[in-house]
Amino acid sequence: MQAFFSQDQLLHDPQQFMRLGRISKPTDLASRAHALQAALAGFGIETHEPADAGRAPLEKVHARHYLDYLESAYERWRALAQTGLEPGIEVLPNLSAYHGAQPGHQRPPCPSSSIVAQTGYYIGDLACPLGAHSWRSILRSAHSAAAAAQALCDGQRLAYALCRPSGHHAYHDRAGGFCYVNNSATAAQHLVDGLDPARRSRVAVLDVDVHHGDGTQNIFYTRDDVLTISTHAATDNYYPFYVGYAEETGHGAGVGCNLNLPLAHGSGNPAFFAALATALQRLRDFRPDALVLAMGFDTYKDDPLGVFALDMAAYSHIGQQLRLLGLPLVIVQEGGYLVEALQPGLSALLDGLGA
Ligand SMILES: [Zn+2]
Repeated sequence: MQAFFSQDQLLHDPQQFMRLGRISKPTDLASRAHALQAALAGFGIETHEPADAGRAPLEKVHARHYLDYLESAYERWRALAQTGLEPGIEVLPNLSAYHGAQPGHQRPPCPSSSIVAQTGYYIGDLACPLGAHSWRSILRSAHSAAAAAQALCDGQRLAYALCRPSGHHAYHDRAGGFCYVNNSATAAQHLVDGLDPARRSRVAVLDVDVHHGDGTQNIFYTRDDVLTISTHAATDNYYPFYVGYAEETGHGAGVGCNLNLPLAHGSGNPAFFAALATALQRLRDFRPDALVLAMGFDTYKDDPLGVFALDMAAYSHIGQQLRLLGLPLVIVQEGGYLVEALQPGLSALLDGLGA
C-alpha cells in the first residue's frame, strides 16, 4: 500500500475555535498526523511526499473564485492593518452570507471585494480560521488525496492519503467544520477522470466519519457518476445540522446517487455495522470502478467531539468488509480528535484490509 503526506501539512496551526459561544482550543492538532504516521510505520509503510500539482486537482471540484479567496485571504486580512483597522491573528468571519440557493445552483463570486465580506461569504462557520501557513497545508493535503488517487490510476489497489486539514465539510465554494478543500471529492474526481484513460469512471465515496459528509454531498449532488454515501450521527441535534437527512437523495441527474444513513447518538458497533451493511449493498448495486473511503475516527467512544460508542473492533470490521468488496480503494483521512485513538484505529483498519 502506498501512503501520501507532506510535511507542509503540519504548518496549519489553528488558534481559535468557537464552540457554544466560547473561544475553545482547536482540536485539529498537528500531533494527529504523527499518530497516523506511527500506525503506518507499524505496517512498514512510509509516507511519500505528494507531487505538487498546483491548484489543478482542486479546480475540478471547487469554484476558482473560492480558491482565489483561500489562497489570498491571510495576506489581505493582515493588510487591513495598513488601513488603520486592527485585524485579529487569524482570518475569521464576523458576518454570515444568506445561503438560499437551490440544489444544483452555483453561487456567483462574492459581489464585494472586501476581505471582511468575502470571509463571511466563503467561511461557513467559526471552526475554520486561516493563519499564515494554512493555505500551504490545505493545498498539500489535497495533493496527498490526488496522489493517492493517482496511485490507483497507476494500477495500485489500495492507497492512503494522510489528509490534514480534513476536507469532507468543504463545499464547492465554502469552508466549514475544520475543512477548506474537499480532499475526498478531489480524490473521487481524480479517479473519475484518470482511472481509465478511455472513459470516465464511476466512483463511490463512502464517508464513515461521525459527522455527515455535507461538502462531498454538495459537490456531487447533481451527478450520476459519483455515488455519495454517509453514515453519521443524526444531524437534527449535531453538526452540520442543516443537512445529512435521509430524504436527501440527490437532485436532477443525481437523484438516487446520494444515500444518508443517520444513526442515533450513542450508537455502538451493532447499529453502525447494520448501517454499513446497507451502505455496502447500495455500493454493490451502483457497480463503481473504485471507492473512496472518507475515514473518520471520531466515531470512537471516547472522542471529544464524537457521539458514537464504537470500539477498535469496528475499524477492523470496516477493513474486512471493504476487503470483501474487492474494489480499488483510496482511503482519505477525515476526522478523529482523540489523538491516542488514531494509531490503534488506523492500525485496526489496515489490519482488517490485510494491508
Ligand atoms: Zn468528523
